Amino acid sequence: MSVLVVTGGSRGIGAAVCRRAPHDVVVNYTEDRAAAEAVVAEVEASGRRALAVRADVSAEDDVAALFDAAAELGPLTGLVANAGVTGGRGRVDEVPAAAMRAVLDVNVLGTFLCLQAAVRRMSTRHGGAGGSIVAVSSTAAKRGSPGEWAHYAASKAAIETLAYGLALEVATEGVRVNTVAPGTVHTGLHAAAGDPDRPARLAATRIPMGRAGEPDEIAAAVLWLLGPEASFVTGAVLPVSGGF
Ligand code: NAP
Repeated sequence: MSVLVVTGGSRGIGAAVCRRAPHDVVVNYTEDRAAAEAVVAEVEASGRRALAVRADVSAEDDVAALFDAAAELGPLTGLVANAGVTGGRGRVDEVPAAAMRAVLDVNVLGTFLCLQAAVRRMSTRHGGAGGSIVAVSSTAAKRGSPGEWAHYAASKAAIETLAYGLALEVATEGVRVNTVAPGTVHTGLHAAAGDPDRPARLAATRIPMGRAGEPDEIAAAVLWLLGPEASFVTGAVLPVSGGF
């Protein structure tokens, strides 16, 4: 069976991808081992193999160990670069530089390191058999998220540009690279940023469909882009956002 690495696969959108993916999966996490093990148990109950692997995507050695662990399941065929943090809420004139640095480390450097590791294993230029990558950005990349988290929005725009450039680099090397840009989704991310009511508030005020999304709705789009139905799609950014 094909082998998929899902960064931040222990909770939220990443966990939904792991549960629905028609692949053996590496469930990556940093803090919450119990959550990762619970996802592994669900995947195994559906007849697939899974591994929980602790790795901070912003640390080069951790990323190398993550992809080495994936090799235990077989040759890598896919990556969902989903791990991300908001760095908390705040205007640009309030956010500490350390928060910006932390967000850039996880969201931008972390995505870069994982994309790089995946291409080194999957690209025919490196002796691989090809594969597919989906990065997870945010509709914040286009909206700028004023008064909330422009620092986070900027990191998500960087992911879209990185994925697009890479898609063109490897387009003839058997690897497709696409991005899903979720809108507001019911996960723990909002509470972690200190604003648990955010999905309900945006549903009432800004999201045209009048509700926030569910992790499964994002996972469905991720898995479509990742899979053979999207065989002629590369370099795309797909908003999954209820119109917002
Ligand atoms: P979430 O529920 O907060 O889960 C985040 C996941 O990332 C967890 O599995 C967490 O593992 C992992 N993680 C955090 N830092 C990591 C690191 N340095 N290295 C490896 N893993 C790390 O988040 P989510 O809402 O599902 O978001 C997933 C992605 O979608 C993120 O990139 C986010 O920016 C994006 N997104 C979310 C929304 C939304 O409304 N929820 C909207 C647009 C875009 P631990 O718990 O073990 O740390």
